[in-house]
Amino acid sequence: MPTTTVEPAQRSKVTADCRFCQSELSVTFVDLGMSPLCESFVPPERLDAMEPFYPLHVRICERCLLVQLPEYVAPEEIFTEYAYFSAYSDSWVAHARRYADAMIARYGLGADSLVVELASNDGYLLQHFVAAGIPVLGVEPAQNVARAAEARGVRTVSVFFGEQAAREIVAQHGHASLVPANNVLAHVPDINDFVAGIAVLLARDGVATLEFPHIHRLIDGNQYDTIYHEHFSYLSLYAVEQIFGAHGLRVVDVEELPTHGGSLRIFARHADDATEPVSDRVAALRALEHEHALDRLEGYQGFGPRVDETKRRLLEFLIGARREGKRVAGYGAPGKGNTLLNHCGIRTDLLDYTVDRNPYKHGMFLPGTHIPIHPPERIAETKPDYILILPWNLRKEISEQLAYARDWGAKFVVPIPTVEVF
Ligand SMILES: [Zn+2]
Repeated sequence: MPTTTVEPAQRSKVTADCRFCQSELSVTFVDLGMSPLCESFVPPERLDAMEPFYPLHVRICERCLLVQLPEYVAPEEIFTEYAYFSAYSDSWVAHARRYADAMIARYGLGADSLVVELASNDGYLLQHFVAAGIPVLGVEPAQNVARAAEARGVRTVSVFFGEQAAREIVAQHGHASLVPANNVLAHVPDINDFVAGIAVLLARDGVATLEFPHIHRLIDGNQYDTIYHEHFSYLSLYAVEQIFGAHGLRVVDVEELPTHGGSLRIFARHADDATEPVSDRVAALRALEHEHALDRLEGYQGFGPRVDETKRRLLEFLIGARREGKRVAGYGAPGKGNTLLNHCGIRTDLLDYTVDRNPYKHGMFLPGTHIPIHPPERIAETKPDYILILPWNLRKEISEQLAYARDWGAKFVVPIPTVEVF
C-alpha cells in the first residue's frame, strides 16, 4: 500500500498570501479571535437575528514585513453604505482645515490645479479647497456618503479607486496636482492596484499625501483596538517605501501626526520627479523604525501577550466597579470600540450603554455586544459614576465636552494603552 504524505505540524494551513509581495503568510502578529464587522450597527428589529463573525487574525509577511489582515470579508460588503460621517468630530474638521491651508501655501495651488481626494468621505476636507477656488474631485465608494458630499457642493464620483478608475478619471478630468488620501491606504484590500492608480493619476510634478496610522504607535501604545476587518494593512514607513517603489513612486517627505493615536503623513512623487528634494525627515524616520526593530521580524514579536494583559486589566476594573455598585456608561461608538468590547466580552452586564453624537447611530446597538447607543444627553439624565471613553485618542476633547459630569463626581476612564481613571 502507498504511504500517505503527512505535512509537518508546524506548517499550519495558510489561507492567504501577502497582499504586496505574494509570499505565504505564516507568522502571527496578533490573533483577536472572532469579531463582527465593526460598523454593522444592529437596529432593534434585528436584535434576535444571527450576526456574522469573522476572524481578526493579523499576520506579518516574513519577506516584506507588511502586517496585514487577510481579506476575510469582500470590501463591497463593508464600504457601500456605512455610518461614519467624519464631520461630526470637531478636532477632525480642524485638522482638515490646517491641512488644506498648508498644501495651498506649500504648492501654490490655484484655479489651474486639480485636487483629487481618495476616500473623500462627506467632503469635509475638499470643502476647504472649494472655498479657495481650487477645482476638486472626490472619490468615495460609499454611495450615501458621496451623496452627502455632493449636497455640500463637493464634486464626487462613487467608485472603488484603483488603476482602472484612475485612467477613467484622468481621461475625464486630467491629471492631479495634489492627491490627498487620508486613512484609506490601510483600508484597501488590493494595495498594489491602489498605489498603481496613484501613479496613473498624478501629474508629472504632482504630489500625493497619504495619512495612515503608524504601526510603531500601535505596538508602542498597545492600540490593539485599531485592528478591525476594514483595516487591512498596519503600515510602517519601511513597508510603504517598498510598495511605492514597486510602482515608480518615492517618498520625499514624512510627518508624524497625533491623529488616530499616532499617524504618518507621507508625501510621494514620481520617482523621476526632482521638483522637491527628499527631506531629511525621511532618513530620520527610517532610523526611528530601525531603532525599534521595525525593519526586522523581532520588532513585531511580543505584541500578542501584551494585548492579553491589557484585556485582563480592563475586565478587572469593570468587574470591580460593578461589584461596588457603580454604574459605567460609554462615550462614543467608533469602530475601535467594537473590537475592544468584543475581544474583551464586555456587554450590558458591565457597560450600561454608550452615547454618540452621530444621529445615524441613535437607537441602534453595537455589533456583537448589543450595547445600546443613545444621544449624549443620556449621560446628564442618568449620571453614571464612570464614563469609559472608547475613542481614547480624543480623550482631551471628550473629557472637556463632558466636564459637567464632574459636578456629580463622575470620573473618566480610558482603556488604552492600559486602564486609566482620571
Ligand atoms: Zn510581503
